[in-house]
Amino acid sequence: MIAIVGAGPVGNFAAELLAKKNKDVIVFEEHKKVGEPIQCTGIVTQEIKNIVKIKKDVIVNKVKKAKIFSPNKKSIDVKLTKPNLIIDRAKFDRSLAERAKKAGAKFVLGARYRGGNKKISIGNKKYNVKALVGADGPASSVAKSNDMYGNRKFVVGSQVRAKTKFEHDQVEFWLGIGEFGWLVPESKGVARIGVVAYRNPSGHLNRLLKNLGRKYKIIDRQGGLIPLYDPKLTIQKKGVYLIGDSATQVKATTFGGLVPGLMAAKTLADDMQHYEKNVKKKIGRDLRLNLLIRNVMDKFDEKDYDELVGMFAKDHVRKVIETHDRDFPSKFMLKLLLKEPRLMKFGKKLVF
Ligand SMILES: Cc1cc2nc3c(=O)[nH]c(=O)nc-3n(C[C@H](O)[C@H](O)[C@H](O)COP(=O)(O)OP(=O)(O)OC[C@H]3O[C@@H](n4cnc5c(N)ncnc54)[C@H](O)[C@@H]3O)c2cc1C
Repeated sequence: MIAIVGAGPVGNFAAELLAKKNKDVIVFEEHKKVGEPIQCTGIVTQEIKNIVKIKKDVIVNKVKKAKIFSPNKKSIDVKLTKPNLIIDRAKFDRSLAERAKKAGAKFVLGARYRGGNKKISIGNKKYNVKALVGADGPASSVAKSNDMYGNRKFVVGSQVRAKTKFEHDQVEFWLGIGEFGWLVPESKGVARIGVVAYRNPSGHLNRLLKNLGRKYKIIDRQGGLIPLYDPKLTIQKKGVYLIGDSATQVKATTFGGLVPGLMAAKTLADDMQHYEKNVKKKIGRDLRLNLLIRNVMDKFDEKDYDELVGMFAKDHVRKVIETHDRDFPSKFMLKLLLKEPRLMKFGKKLVF
């Protein structure tokens, strides 16, 4: 039996793919309901469709434009050649669980993994397993229990759903508020507004809400930890595998974890034996590049952001941003540097 801990999107997708390979799969989820509580903004590039089928009713909106602000409210408008999708995370997680069940995977809900690898403790019960997959999120108990936690670091994501005014097909990004802030249109009149920050996320969120300069009414609040990618982490050891947030597979620029996590689930199901090597080959390079960019941006001050937004405003630079998905910076970073060599000046922040 393969035990998967965590019925998030990544664990559910791995369960479906492994069950389709006639493996005996059982998913343990500590919550009683899949998909809740929601801790996500649900904005993804269309790249996700190359990995997994998304049911129509999971997509609640599509955005065709992005407005990027510097902390001093300079802004540029970017057309998204391929519109980004805004998804309902609870429905998405549940639809993946349904597909996994259809493929033959079993689910045990309200079942918390407490430790072990070949003999695992779930609640008060013990199970003998052949392989153990940790898909249990950023603070992974599977990683902790199997000495695979490493020295991982986190940012905190904090968001509200609020009634306010905005353009229905435009996402707003605010650089330099925390790590960055966003307003993502969910439906007519309701937006997801949030920040990611190393410290004081609620302070940064209040600043963002003030900067938006509009009236708003908060409907609910969500938040959670987001891991920084750790390229040195051991993610496969003696029949134990980590995927998704539990393996820190998150883009450190945008803190999006859905696309890389789902890609990791597929890589695991394709070949469990060579998972770590294959996944590093497939997504490791881009995750490392994202981390490098984050390390540079961590040293930005408000003037740097103003300057960056100024450079992005140039037509030839903007075109590169408009025509490439942000999932794979390795495909456009060099082009960007060739179009705007002044971007190199930010590279020195890696050293000093
Ligand atoms: C505020 C916020 C906004 C975000 N916005 C975006 C976005 O717009 N786009 C994007 O791509 N990414 C976004 N992310 C990141 C994204 O949510 C994660 O990368 C994604 O959820 C990872 O999926 P996962 O299945 O690996 O882990 P999770 O979704 O964290 O699922 C882990 C599951 O494991 C369960 N679990 C944990 N411990 C145990 C245990 N001991 N026993 C049993 N079950 C357990 C949990 O209950 C949970 O169901 C955001 C994150 C935050 C915090």
